[in-house]
Amino acid sequence: MTQKDLIDTVAVTTNDVACDGTGASGGHPRVWLHIDPATRDVVCPYCSRRFVLDAGVTAAAVQH
Ligand SMILES: [Zn+2]
Repeated sequence: MTQKDLIDTVAVTTNDVACDGTGASGGHPRVWLHIDPATRDVVCPYCSRRFVLDAGVTAAAVQH
């Protein structure tokens, strides 16, 4: 395991994110992750990628 694997960050524009891993790591079963409105991010428990809500997306938009 390298440090680079742990800090892979993906910017997203919705609070529901589907993750099935990366090609480099072989992937994992697709899971749905939900952005935490308090921290505006979520970390995939399988591949440790961090999904961050894009700064241009407002909380109101996320909550519909
Ligand atoms: Zn993942």
